[in-house]
This record gives sequence, C-alpha cells and structure tokens, in this order.
Amino acid sequence: MNLLLLLDTDFISPNHVRLSGRRLEHVRDIHRLQVGDSLKVGMLGGYSGNGEIHRLDGEYLELNVTLDCPPPPKLPLTLILALPRPKVLNRVLASATSLGVARIFLVNAWKVEKSYWKSPRLEEGNLLHQRILGLEQARDTMLPELQTRRLLRPFVEDELPGLIRDTLPLMAHPGSGIPCPRAVEGPVTLTIGPEGGFLPQEVELFGRAGFQAVELGPRILRVETAVAALVSRLY
Ligand code: SAM
Repeated sequence: MNLLLLLDTDFISPNHVRLSGRRLEHVRDIHRLQVGDSLKVGMLGGYSGNGEIHRLDGEYLELNVTLDCPPPPKLPLTLILALPRPKVLNRVLASATSLGVARIFLVNAWKVEKSYWKSPRLEEGNLLHQRILGLEQARDTMLPELQTRRLLRPFVEDELPGLIRDTLPLMAHPGSGIPCPRAVEGPVTLTIGPEGGFLPQEVELFGRAGFQAVELGPRILRVETAVAALVSRLY
C-alpha cells in the first residue's frame, strides 16, 4: 500500500479521519508507523496528499489530512478482458488498475467456464476492493470504470462499434504474426483472450468489428503477464 485511500465516511471533521480494520492494521503492522509519523493519503475519486498520525492503537488510526495533489493521469486504454479464473481475476483487476487502465469490460467467451460467472469474486464488493488495492499500489485515487457483459456477440456487434470509435482496436492473439505496436499516441481498445484462448470464430467476430489481431512474440504469457506486457508496450 503506497497510499492510504480515504472514503467520505472516514471523515469525522473536515481535515480529520478515523480508520479501523485493514487500513489500521496495515499502517500499524506493515508500515510500522507511530503517532507523529506521516504517510501519503488520497480521497477516493479526489485529490491525494499527506496524513499525519495523531492516534494509532488497537482500536483506531486517526490522521490530520491535507489533500492538495491531483491524481496521476489514466492511460487512454479500454481493456476488454475475457473473464479469467476467479483467482486470476483478482490479480488482473488490481494490476490493470495500478497500470492506469481507464476502463475495463469483463466479457464472456467460449472458453470461459460458466462457473466463473457465479463466483463471489464477481460481487460488487470484491470488484471494488481489487481496484482499490490497485489504486493504493499506484498512488492513484480514480477507479477505472468496470462493466460486465455475459453475451459476447451482441456486445461485439452492437456496442463495440460505438466504443472503438476514435480508438485503435487491437486483439491480443498469439500466433497472429502481426507485432503489437509500440508507444502509440492515442486511445486504444485492447481485447485479451481467456486462459484457453479465443476460438477462430471469436477472432473473426472481433476482426469483422474492426479489431487487428496482434502478438507479443512466440511466448504464450499468462493473462496477468500479457496485460502488463501489452500495456507497457503500447504506452
Ligand atoms: N492457448 C491460448 C492461445 O494460444 O490463445 C493461450 C491463451 S493466453 C494464456 C491468454 C491470453 O493472453 C491470450 O488470448 C492473449 O490475449 C494474451 N496473450 C498471451 N500471450 C500472448 C502473446 N504472446 N501475444 C499476444 N497475446 C498474448
């Protein structure tokens, strides 16, 4: 945690917050800070700044905060991610958030197991928590937008044409033979396949919608590694 994220409900007066639970434990047991020490804080959806600890015990962490610094800019990147295994989903959401991805769609694909859609990790609370972990890691305060689409074809045929307007639409697909572009200037919409890969019909579906299949090279990467490698290559 490189920034302590604050919520409206943490404020007990205009510049004074009181926290308990995970954030208290992290500051006390991992950072091992004490009364009088300072740490980076940020308001979810707002500015970041400094917090000075004036109470830290088994019950509460209390800080006086100054919030005067805007969040880092997001990447102009929309990620369309075939729903991965629940454990992997947590890691990908946190790391895509810390990389600065602006918007994420979790979509279905033939090789996405139906049971994944019933996982408790898809509940709102967890989807928010994983993105908060990503924000805290990267000293960001702005959540990436997150939406889910259980029907792939109508999403690709009806919604994507509007979403990809004025963006470079790319599909990460090993074996495509076309190298993924480097250091692009503008917005990108990037599709990442499921752990078993996309079917040829799904590659064609995205192709008809205007997506260029691209690859990173001959090594097949795990989804979370592929996301990080693709984002770094593009921006
Ligand atoms: N057997 C699958 C295949 O050949 O497509 C492997 C899927 S891989 C574990 C999951 C996703 O990560 C892929 O669908 C792709 O979007 C992305 N990916 C992994 N390695 C890649 C590479 N070398 N180039 C482009 N995308 C890659």
